[in-house]
Amino acid sequence: MKAARLYEYDPKMNVQLRIEEVKAPTITAPDEVIVRVGAAGLCRTDLHIIEGVWKPTMDPEGTLLPYIMGHENAGWVEEVGSGVRSVKRGDAVICHPFRSCGICLNCRHGEDMYCDNGQFPGLGMNGGFAEYFITSERSLIKLNANITPIEVAPLADAGITAYRAAKRAAKLLRPGSYCVLLGIGGLGHIALQSLHAISGCRIIAVDREPAARVLAKDLGADFILDGGPNVVEEVSQITGGGAHVVIDFVGELGVENICWKMVRKGGQLFVVGYGGNINVPTAHLVIEEINIGGSLVGNFTELVELMELNADGKVKMHYTEYNLASINTALDDFKNRRFTGRGVIVP
Ligand SMILES: [Zn+2]
Ligand SMILES: [Zn+2]
Repeated sequence: MKAARLYEYDPKMNVQLRIEEVKAPTITAPDEVIVRVGAAGLCRTDLHIIEGVWKPTMDPEGTLLPYIMGHENAGWVEEVGSGVRSVKRGDAVICHPFRSCGICLNCRHGEDMYCDNGQFPGLGMNGGFAEYFITSERSLIKLNANITPIEVAPLADAGITAYRAAKRAAKLLRPGSYCVLLGIGGLGHIALQSLHAISGCRIIAVDREPAARVLAKDLGADFILDGGPNVVEEVSQITGGGAHVVIDFVGELGVENICWKMVRKGGQLFVVGYGGNINVPTAHLVIEEINIGGSLVGNFTELVELMELNADGKVKMHYTEYNLASINTALDDFKNRRFTGRGVIVP
């Protein structure tokens, strides 16, 4: 099969993935499923993988490369293991990104991402920038009628991650309260739509990129800011003292140093984007009584909920399509923010 493989890490990200012919995966366990990839979303995590940020976690021995990235996958069931009952060949599916075991206590609590025995296709093992990849029955959600893999593939990770953060935010947001979204890219534009669907809050969308601000406007953000040097003050003025919830989809490039300053007394910061370090004076935490926490992908049932919102037309993924042979162009366009929404690779 055709696949795009990473051969070396490079902090400067000047490496090219190699498009080459490799051996297709084969079923080795009764619960495994081979998926014919319909589309695979391109994620900032892929850029971080190339940079080597994930090497200590997913490749500590340095034996992984060359390997196939791609963890936002949707497609059609190609072949199933002997124990698989819930899907059959030809079914259109979206793949929860984490192969959780279903047996450990964290899985029993429904927190797939906390699974003690999980595996992450695309991180530390071959993923979906290829014609086929292998996952488990437990990870699959059948697509609703009339939904095609390319429309939804990035919902598998970008979408579910944004949705989980939005759902946690919605629990803290009353009608009339304010939520700041920092970064209206692949995740931010899903969070914006999700909040509209499940919360009555007012949304302040912040992005440096003009095209992203246009997208935020199209999607109905109540306030749109360009993230200039006065952004903290601007948020304070709009909200009368800070937002009830701030969701930071950037987490680096300096945003990590200002995100917490936008939170009002007793408010909450969710950190979703990553890469930088947050340095908050403890006195500020105490006096303002703000809460800061991370939000990691999402569990299986959250992806099911998101797919229902998608089927009802309430949350749509905006994407730009690239074929597998153009994946290096896609990576370059992503790095330089030449598209809005998500880049999607079609093998
Ligand atoms: Zn991702
Ligand atoms: Zn588990």
